[in-house]
Amino acid sequence: MPDDRVDDDGLARLRAELEHLRLLANTVPVAIAYYEAEGRTCRMANRRYAEMFGFDERNIIGRTLAAVIGDEAAARIEPYRHSVIEQQTAAAYEREVAGADGITRVVEVRLLPHVEAGGRSVGAFVLITDITHHRRAEAALRESEERLAKFMHASEEGIVFHKGGYITDVNPPLLNLLGYTMDEMLGRLTLEFIAPEAQQKVAEVIAAAPETRYDSVALHKDGTRIPVQFIVRTMQHQGEQQRLTIVRDIRDRLQAEQRIHHHAHHDALTGLPNRLAFVERLERRLAEARASGESLGLMFIDLDHFKRINDSLGHGVGDTLLKTVAQRITDALRMGDTVARFGGDEFLVLLAPRAGAPAVAEVGARLLATIGEPLMAGGVSVSVTPSIGVAMFPQDAVTSAELIQHADQAMYRAKSGGRARCRFFEPGMAEAALAELALESRLALAVRQSEFVLHFQPQAALGPAGLGGRAPASASRLLGVEALVRWAHPQRGLVGPDEFIPLAEARRLILPIGTWVLKEALAAAVRWRASAALGQGVAVPVAVNLAMLQFQTPGFADMVAQALEASGAEGSMLELELTERMLMSDLGEVRSALARLREMGVTITVDDFGTGYTSLAHLKDLPLHRLKIDRSFIAGLPEDAGSMAIARAIVQMGHGLGLQVVAEGVETAPQREAVQAMGCDALQGHLLAHPMPEPQLLQWLRGHAAA
Ligand code: C2E
Ligand code: MG
Ligand code: MG
Repeated sequence: MPDDRVDDDGLARLRAELEHLRLLANTVPVAIAYYEAEGRTCRMANRRYAEMFGFDERNIIGRTLAAVIGDEAAARIEPYRHSVIEQQTAAAYEREVAGADGITRVVEVRLLPHVEAGGRSVGAFVLITDITHHRRAEAALRESEERLAKFMHASEEGIVFHKGGYITDVNPPLLNLLGYTMDEMLGRLTLEFIAPEAQQKVAEVIAAAPETRYDSVALHKDGTRIPVQFIVRTMQHQGEQQRLTIVRDIRDRLQAEQRIHHHAHHDALTGLPNRLAFVERLERRLAEARASGESLGLMFIDLDHFKRINDSLGHGVGDTLLKTVAQRITDALRMGDTVARFGGDEFLVLLAPRAGAPAVAEVGARLLATIGEPLMAGGVSVSVTPSIGVAMFPQDAVTSAELIQHADQAMYRAKSGGRARCRFFEPGMAEAALAELALESRLALAVRQSEFVLHFQPQAALGPAGLGGRAPASASRLLGVEALVRWAHPQRGLVGPDEFIPLAEARRLILPIGTWVLKEALAAAVRWRASAALGQGVAVPVAVNLAMLQFQTPGFADMVAQALEASGAEGSMLELELTERMLMSDLGEVRSALARLREMGVTITVDDFGTGYTSLAHLKDLPLHRLKIDRSFIAGLPEDAGSMAIARAIVQMGHGLGLQVVAEGVETAPQREAVQAMGCDALQGHLLAHPMPEPQLLQWLRGHAAA
């Protein structure tokens, strides 16, 4: 049959086709083989298959399945082989193949039955695909998902996955943070858990899907708003691209930031705004006032002699004092006013608009009164006065720096004017402050060159009214003289103590000046005692004024004892004048210093009485001899009822405590009659004599003795 016969051409064509098939079989990325059912021998294999088991396309032919893949593997796949041959169904399985090259591969094996026309199974095709990479990738993915799951659980921060804004996964910390269960959150819109005002931004980020971080506000189940930071990334999760958001609770951070801001803007001791905060606020208020045309008042408050309290009574007392003062200032102000601690013992007050300077002055007066009240600190009663300077906007200055500077200058003038007062800024104060600086450096020179002189003012006893009370003042008995210092300035002539004593106190120059005064006064008293003109042996006691700093210097009483000894004067020839304020500080120390002086025979007098805040109980406990009624009360006598009442009360109180009472600054006969009628024991003043240099005093004393 021509059909059955194959001519040479046909044979060549067949060979070519076979060659094509072989090429194809060796090119596909699949290992292919054919095994006979009978005998299980390999009838065909492509190169990939043969090499997988260490053969080539030719020498594998005729080998049994067990010989090719090994006994163990053959036994393992027997169930598949069986079902393919017996049931004529395809089978597929995965297994690992330890390749001839030593590498273990994961392969997918498919077995296809070869069924004859008669329905008999004659063999099976084997197709093997290397799926090693595929499996590895899968395993890696599984691992990373597991890692992510672990990480989500281990993280302390909230983590949420969402797709298109719908929540697909959350971790326990986030559930904790927001107060929901997993079921309550899955499948819901992320926006439902965001505070309304923060939703727009979140929606934008969901839509644009950038990798970003931003602050937002989440909502707890109970409605609490929770400030959070979102860190947003796109990530593979659950087999697809999802959005991962780390939810960081930033409440602590915000609190810390607020604390830092508070610290930066507040004074730790008093809790008041500090300089920085005040200047910021001042700038704002000035801008508002410029727009509205309103005026503002700025007060610069500095405590008088605060450093001494701090140094002598300790920082604990100083701190308590500052806190109390801060509270008192705050209490004295009204809504809209601002108080700040500017540093040290300085406070600034910005007054909201008020009806002009008189209203501001009223606040100043109120502050002077309330700050000056004594207070208990560290078991002692202390008091401190403020010096207040005021500058008004826009009259005195237009910028914040200038306003503060002018209030400061006004405060400085309040200090040099005697402290414990409120002064308004005036043009020219800056020059005055400069002049004061010049005075200060000149004063230091004056101390070195001893440019001081003493003037003396007599004091005379007052007889009982009606008994010689009408006699001329000069006729009354001489009690002593008060030594009053003057500065013999080379250009300016004699400068009064009110002009330089406050400055000398502030700069501690009062110590050498005070020592000089004491020595000079004692030397003078010794000279007078020896003076024949005054009658041998007649002592004229001399009174010396003390400054707070002198009295507070440790060993002050010893210094006085030495001065007495060096001069040859007895203690009874010396009277020391203290002010009420000096008695206020530390009662124990004051009492022991006074007791020692008293033992020496020194007379102790409280000067300028009535201007301080000494309590009666306090005076009662101290070894004192005299009170001098301040001359401001005498000036109003006898017309001013208030002055009369105060002077009378002081006399009665002084006598009640067994003290002598001296009226100072008596200028007129009616004044003298008034104080005499009240029962004052002595007087001092222009009516009797002005303060005078020693030669004039000696003359006056001679005249007085003759009378
Ligand atoms: P003070 O101790 O109250 O002295 C009395 C002041 O009143 C003296 O002023 C005196 O001149 C003045 N005076 C006396 N009689 C009258 C009068 O009838 N009318 C008027 N208007 N004034 C009268 P001075 O000398 O200017 O002294 C002022 C203050 O300076 C003294 O007040 C005293 O506190 C202080 N001072 C004076 N010398 C010294 C001193 O050596 N050391 C210290 N620490 N302070 C002194
Ligand atoms: Mg005096
Ligand atoms: Mg006085």
